Amino acid sequence: MVHNAVRLEHLSQEMVKKGICTNLADQATQLVMGDGNPDADIVFIGEAPGKKEDQTGRPFVGASGKFLDQMLEAAGLNREDVYITNIVKYRPPNNRDPTKAEKAEFWPYLVKQLEIIQPNVIVTLGRHSGINFIPDLVISRDHGQGRQVVLDKKTYFVVPLYHPAAALYNGSMRQTLIDDFKLVQTYLNSHKQL
Ligand code: URA
Repeated sequence: MVHNAVRLEHLSQEMVKKGICTNLADQATQLVMGDGNPDADIVFIGEAPGKKEDQTGRPFVGASGKFLDQMLEAAGLNREDVYITNIVKYRPPNNRDPTKAEKAEFWPYLVKQLEIIQPNVIVTLGRHSGINFIPDLVISRDHGQGRQVVLDKKTYFVVPLYHPAAALYNGSMRQTLIDDFKLVQTYLNSHKQL
């Protein structure tokens, strides 16, 4: 049996070879595929790499990544045990929001990535990530509330959360995000047998 780490590596090579999203690729240093345990029960999905992520090739290593690490710890999760990725895998210039077309180009590959990892729980970080899974998402209303989502005939349990970057400097959102992260651990325990 081919190991998931190898399958993910092949998928990332395929994306580079096929020239996915050349308008972003041409300006980026590298593709930021994802990081962590390729057999994780839980996958965190952000929006797109920033400057530090583009330089290092790893998602969430800048300021919002440090905050994400703190929240993982508060929820009793280790970064090495979870898998972290983004909807868009090349840095948009000047950290602008990725366009609908850019997100659409990466989407089939994200679905393949999830099919390889087969997580029990998916946590989306920020509205731009969550809306791809939950089209009627209102993040201020729906944050922390998980629901079943079918992707390519497979059912995932998706929990939309605020983006750590948005909560970093906003006291009340920060507390909400910490509280939601603790809920994530509860969801994870109850969806182990899905
Ligand atoms: N923000 C994201 O959404 N993803 C990263 O990888 C870093 C910051």
